[in-house]
Amino acid sequence: MQVREETNIDIVSSSDAKEIEKLDISVVIPVLNEEQSIEELTTRIVDVLESLGMRFEIIYVDDGSDDNTAEEIKKIKTREKRVKLVRFRRNFGKAAALSAGFAQAKGDLILTMDGDLQDIPEEIPKLIEKLEEEDLDLVSTWKYPRVDPWGKKIASKLFNYVTGKIARIGLHDFNSGFKLYRKEVVREINIYGELHRYIPVLASRRGFKVGEVKVKHAPRKYGKSKYGWDRFYKGFLDLLTVLFITKYTRRPLHLFGLVGLIFFTAGFLINAYLAYLWFNNHSLSDRPLLLLGILLMLIGIQVLTTGLLGEMITYKNFKRQDSYSVKEIIE
Ligand code: UDP
Ligand code: MG
Repeated sequence: MQVREETNIDIVSSSDAKEIEKLDISVVIPVLNEEQSIEELTTRIVDVLESLGMRFEIIYVDDGSDDNTAEEIKKIKTREKRVKLVRFRRNFGKAAALSAGFAQAKGDLILTMDGDLQDIPEEIPKLIEKLEEEDLDLVSTWKYPRVDPWGKKIASKLFNYVTGKIARIGLHDFNSGFKLYRKEVVREINIYGELHRYIPVLASRRGFKVGEVKVKHAPRKYGKSKYGWDRFYKGFLDLLTVLFITKYTRRPLHLFGLVGLIFFTAGFLINAYLAYLWFNNHSLSDRPLLLLGILLMLIGIQVLTTGLLGEMITYKNFKRQDSYSVKEIIE
């Protein structure tokens, strides 16, 4: 076992090693406090991939766990050399963990799955088949039947329906972490924050072919979910970002200009009307509500556009290494 203290700069230059070792598939698994699942998950993935005769690696990204997740992974690594560990200094979130895993991955295919045994390793062949049969670049999954609490299921259904409609992409489940990619997709798409759930949208907008398969879903065996209800409203805000960065990053004036024109025109018409009244000897001193309305709308739109501008700058300046910090890499 080779242990290195890594700086982010080293990770970039370690790409030389990638040329030498050719792998069919890299499994990337973000884990936050999943100590009880690691051993079973590893064994099951190894069994499945060995039965397919694939050359593979399993990259665990420990997203700042405070239980024995990292120790558990290191322990397994002593007997299963194909297991790798990227360990964050603190919790940076699932998107950052996936990004870090992608940066390490050497496989022609890259599979991501959750580390809590909810995604069933025995379903992996289905994803690979689908990708090859339909010559896709990305296969997402649709967990059916879903075994989460009913409140989460309904919220999720609504979220997926609206997201699908807005993003104009026919997927049933945007939150599924169980996905298979060709390496080109992963190399091209930058994610930060919580944008991981929109990789299919970003990919399809870049021209990659995206598909979906139905897979079985297991209840969480150990530990508890790391996400609450805030995932849904954050999800919608992220969707706004995705639409913005895919559509307007190169021509923001199409959006800002249109909104600006609409507001200017509305204001102009109102003022023209008031001017007309004024010329006809009406007093304009008793219309406070109108002023309040205009003020609120202007403030609202300014806040929104400022937020979108911020997102645009983030996206343009985003470098993979900025969104996380690696403590050690063991490979
Ligand atoms: N996870 C992570 N960092 C986080 C939150 C979650 O790496 O900040 C991992 C978690 O350990 C699990 C996967 O992401 O492997 C999915 O999380 P979870 O099972 O809590 O989500 P849910 O199944 O409730 O959608
Ligand atoms: Mg889960």
